[in-house]
Amino acid sequence: MSTPTPQLPPLKLFINGEWVDARSGATLSTVNPATGQPIAQVASADAQDVDLAVRSARAAFEKGPWAKAPPMARSRVLTRIADMIEARGEELAALESLDNGKPVSAARMADIPSAANVFRYMAGWATRMEGEQLPLAGRPQGQFLAYTQRDPMGVVGQIVPWNFPLLMAAWKVAPALAFGCASILKPAEQTPLTAAALVAIAHEAGVPPGQLNLIQGLGHSSGAAIVAHPDVDKIAFTGSTEVGKMIVRSGSDTLKRISLELGGKSPVIVMGDADLDAAVKGAAHAIFFNQGQVCTAGSRLYVHESIYDKFVERLVAVASALKIGPGLDPDTQIGPLVSDEQLRRVAGYVDIGRKEGAGVAVGGEAVGGAGYFYRPTILTDVRQSMRVVQEEIFGPVLVATRFKEVDEVVAHANNSIYGLAASIWTRDVSRAHAVARAVQAGTVWINCHHVMDAAMPFGGYKESGWGREMGSAALEMYTEPKTVCIQL
Ligand code: NAP
Ligand code: MG
Repeated sequence: MSTPTPQLPPLKLFINGEWVDARSGATLSTVNPATGQPIAQVASADAQDVDLAVRSARAAFEKGPWAKAPPMARSRVLTRIADMIEARGEELAALESLDNGKPVSAARMADIPSAANVFRYMAGWATRMEGEQLPLAGRPQGQFLAYTQRDPMGVVGQIVPWNFPLLMAAWKVAPALAFGCASILKPAEQTPLTAAALVAIAHEAGVPPGQLNLIQGLGHSSGAAIVAHPDVDKIAFTGSTEVGKMIVRSGSDTLKRISLELGGKSPVIVMGDADLDAAVKGAAHAIFFNQGQVCTAGSRLYVHESIYDKFVERLVAVASALKIGPGLDPDTQIGPLVSDEQLRRVAGYVDIGRKEGAGVAVGGEAVGGAGYFYRPTILTDVRQSMRVVQEEIFGPVLVATRFKEVDEVVAHANNSIYGLAASIWTRDVSRAHAVARAVQAGTVWINCHHVMDAAMPFGGYKESGWGREMGSAALEMYTEPKTVCIQL
């Protein structure tokens, strides 16, 4: 089955229910990472466009029908968006593959159905903005009625990265709309296409004008303008730790609510008693899925010394057998990295690793020719202080270490500025729970990796972020609690 070239979505900004050019007329080029050739020119916003989007969002939030509607009406629209994403799944998967480079098979299996699921799940939360009745502690009972309620947070700026463009947009937009907020969505400059498709779907599904606005453009210009804007109540950001820190500095001027999903360097811990077949497969998936461009990539492998040599040998065999090719080829398992910049970054890190004394068990080079392809790579003989062990590479590069004692591997796992996720591979239930407790990570998987679900709160310890998205945590993200006290 070959994948047809997808139809492009509108290449403009979406402000107050209309597709418009940037006021300055500026555009940016989005590139096909499999060829290095431009796909299309997309409008590129600056502060004046952001201001229009914020005004339209504010008007929709204050005066529009959405936040005041019966929650079930919002629920119905979100469910319709989920249905439409599913119905257009093939088209969206192809678009995502074209723009980001990822294998279309992965987009079909992961990105698109997960995006639909988030809308379907959040549709249920629209009717669950519950508060509590509070019996007062220091007053005679019956003289006061006190309760809490949850108000939508207001106008929210939602800035997302390029690794799962549609899915990350869905993670942001679905809960914001469920709770009645008005959104200004900004996708990454490398991957503008599926966010535009999503906004078009939301409009068609019945999200009113101004409630969801799309700002395309550059982070340091349009992204920074959203963060600096005094009439934006909250920033929800997914991206690098470096930009997350800039957002905190800028957003603090207006004391915006800020939530951050940032980088990671997640450990994969394989005990001596692990199911070897499952663990090898799991470790390969943990690092090579999406070319390693995953915030939860299992980029540090720790294997018990009793099985280390055999394990690495088998993992090398898996890595060398992965089929590298253009994402739109349905047989491709490893597509190109997203950009030339990312290719250079990954190659640069592997060179740093070599200079630091790491061995290259497999890969360690770009494929060459057109497109931004890099071979799945495993570095061995690493020390924990090396930059390739400490820093997020965000590519298909794994560093492998052997360990002897459980305490030792837990200390290694926690020796990181990050704390996003971890996986533990073992047949020993008690040890699995003990290590899960000891590891500093927002998500711990046991005998699996990268399992995400709309019902599971997700976020990071330490420099991996602030706050949790998904599940019941979405309520904290997009609502303000209010206490009301009545003298009876
Ligand atoms: P990035 O460079 O931080 O960019 C993320 C988004 O922020 C993009 O839309 C970007 O726009 C925008 N941006 C850049 N500078 C900005 C500024 N000064 N003010 C406001 N916005 C700005 O990250 P990336 O390279 O796209 O994505 C990879 C990173 O995301 C990795 O570190 C990864 O771990 C992290 N990530 C985390 C999670 C999670 O849930 N924890 C999930 C996915 C990815 P431009 O594209 O125009 O620069
Ligand atoms: Mg692109």
